[in-house]
Amino acid sequence: MAKKTNAQPPEKLTGIEFAEVPHSAVGFKAIKQSVSHITKEVGLIKGIGLLSKLNQKDGFDCPGCAWPDPDEKRAFLAEYCENGAKAVAEEATKNRVSPLFFASHSVEELSTWSDYEIGKSGRITNPMYLPEGETNYEEISWDNAFKIIGEELNSLNSPDEAIFYTSGRTSNEAAFLYQLFVRQFGTNNLPDCSNMCHESSGAALSETLGIGKGSVTLDDFNHADLVIVMGQNPGTNHPRMLTALGENKKNGGKIITINPLPEVGLMNYKDPQNPLKWIGSGQDLTDVFLQVKINGDVALLKIILKLMVEKENQEPNSVFDHDFINQKTHGIQDFLDDLKNYSIKELVPQTGIPLSKIIEATDLIISKKNIIICWAMGLTQHKNAVETIREVVNLLLLKGSIGKKGAGTCPVRGHSNVQGDRTMGIWEKMSDEFLDKLDTAFNFKSPRKHGFDVVNSIEAMHNKKAKVFFGMGGNFVSATPDTEYSATALRNCNMTVHVSTKLNRSHLIHGKKALILPCLGRSEKDVQESGEQFVSVENSMGKVHQSHGDFQPISEELLSEPAIVAGLAKATLKNRSVNWDEMIANYDNIRDKIAQVIPGFENYNQKVRQDAGFYLPNNARENNFEPTKTGKANFSINKPSEIKLKENEFVLMTIRTHDQYNTTIYGLNDRYRGVLNERRVIFMNVDDMKKAGLKKLDKVDLINNFDNIKRVANGFLVVPYNIPKQNTATYFPEANVLVPIKSVADISNTPTSKTIIITIQKS
Ligand code: SF4
Repeated sequence: MAKKTNAQPPEKLTGIEFAEVPHSAVGFKAIKQSVSHITKEVGLIKGIGLLSKLNQKDGFDCPGCAWPDPDEKRAFLAEYCENGAKAVAEEATKNRVSPLFFASHSVEELSTWSDYEIGKSGRITNPMYLPEGETNYEEISWDNAFKIIGEELNSLNSPDEAIFYTSGRTSNEAAFLYQLFVRQFGTNNLPDCSNMCHESSGAALSETLGIGKGSVTLDDFNHADLVIVMGQNPGTNHPRMLTALGENKKNGGKIITINPLPEVGLMNYKDPQNPLKWIGSGQDLTDVFLQVKINGDVALLKIILKLMVEKENQEPNSVFDHDFINQKTHGIQDFLDDLKNYSIKELVPQTGIPLSKIIEATDLIISKKNIIICWAMGLTQHKNAVETIREVVNLLLLKGSIGKKGAGTCPVRGHSNVQGDRTMGIWEKMSDEFLDKLDTAFNFKSPRKHGFDVVNSIEAMHNKKAKVFFGMGGNFVSATPDTEYSATALRNCNMTVHVSTKLNRSHLIHGKKALILPCLGRSEKDVQESGEQFVSVENSMGKVHQSHGDFQPISEELLSEPAIVAGLAKATLKNRSVNWDEMIANYDNIRDKIAQVIPGFENYNQKVRQDAGFYLPNNARENNFEPTKTGKANFSINKPSEIKLKENEFVLMTIRTHDQYNTTIYGLNDRYRGVLNERRVIFMNVDDMKKAGLKKLDKVDLINNFDNIKRVANGFLVVPYNIPKQNTATYFPEANVLVPIKSVADISNTPTSKTIIITIQKS
């Protein structure tokens, strides 16, 4: 029976406004924003209930980013940030997208709404089906939904014609079952959101250190002498990282920040858990800020490395950790020989930073022994991203700053379980070792041919070589590059299916047939045959812990993600070597199987019930580099980027506002950059504006011509900003239309969303 809908398009944009860029991040304003969001979306009483369980040991994991929670002490009522509170508010919203909503709004009409308006419509209450040629989604039973999917999958000429995408919210239990189903179906087409973010980190770290994950724990920030933050904006994207940086400073640590934009969160911060600090000037974080040009990072690192070598030559043993280098590393001589090929004079212009500033930072690096280097998309989404991260490793190896307390690598992951999903086997090229164990545990033979990553999947759908798209979470069309191309890819499919909590753009850019399968949110109770279940996730630092939803699901028609996978498997697979019902009846059964297949998960059910979970083995953390090809930590040889711009060209990078998380738009303000109520803006250097004859708030079109294909993003307002010359920035996902599908990072195949060459013309 159709249910009532209370979903209406929210307020529209009413025109851009500017506010002063704040001096500090977080503090009382962040708390005020959190409370205001949660009250608006769910009401104050329920809101307080939700927040009191967020990131607590007996509560549920934040559906936002993957930053870890403290192992021991957790603040009652406040173990979250503004964005965590917003993420929970979005999930627990009072608004509903019911069958009546879909009956009242055709797909065509909904397609005219903005991403913000679509997202604000609310939680999806029932499974929905869009039959071929119909204009509106209609309600469907779960049984029929699974039957339609099973029939479509079984009608394909080959299992490789289906794509099974995963976004990083999926729990370990759901991800493990999902990859098992997909491999039993017969393909490794398991692209995930990691292909678009930290794939470059995984590739660089596996090769050099023998593990594709970071090596530090949260406690290492208390012991580091120096933290270098590169290509990252934690104030918006991983806000509780600021607490770790603040603690580091209190313990006498120093911070170097390397970024094209001077992001507020990295400069100064007010601890939200300490009301006494809400007034006053806050805590300064960054000691040395290097405002590097977009993708000037390798050139900058090379200058630093050359200065370090110079100093070591002048004063032997004053810079390098020779014991570490001799015992643990491979390839130093080749690396040092290559470094001689570069001249500091030629490298400096590529960075855009005065040499004196670089020397100041290098002196700090030289004087410190325990160094952590953190990074995010500012390093990973360039053509030479893998080389950049390998150069980061070179610096750490020279200093022996890995495999000891207070030192190491820290790629900061985005979505909350993106790292765990990989560990569970969501990858298009899992090792034979993993697949062999999976086969033994479930008595079948999984395919060995590597599958498609995100870029390959889009191309396969575009070329009609893949015909079914299944998305376990996420908003594929908004997250992926080259929007028009990706949209055509989805439209070319015979069927698109999305497991979702809320309505998003990808439900509206669909295949001939389309299904939406609504699932439980993180905060909601998951009751199966044996009683209430919990799931588990892995944070950015390799710690696995429980997540236990406590709140009544918003509809009786929702299924958990593991139950959806089981339904799908039962409707699709002919030969069954898995008792899917038993797996779903009690998630301990899934975890027992994970324990059989994945190293580090032995006694999973017991270990995950420990207080705050358990750390997975991490060879780099343990100062052991045997898993690399040489059996040692590898120095590598890397080239600076070679972006050559014509006079009228600019490099564009996509960034996020403070009011969004990935593709989810919580609001229309970017408080930390002082831009309110408008998302179609382009941040430009004032000198560039003058040269191009542009004034503040001129409306411009952005044009990319990669591979002689013209891509245009229309109607952006020019905003003067503190950004290096010939560098510009705009918001994601609006600017994704400009990211060419074929412009990808070497080795990792990650779209180069931080190096887009554009010209700008008045609209
Ligand atoms: S830092 Fe990340 S994980 Fe923590 S509360 Fe904020 S969004 Fe959630």
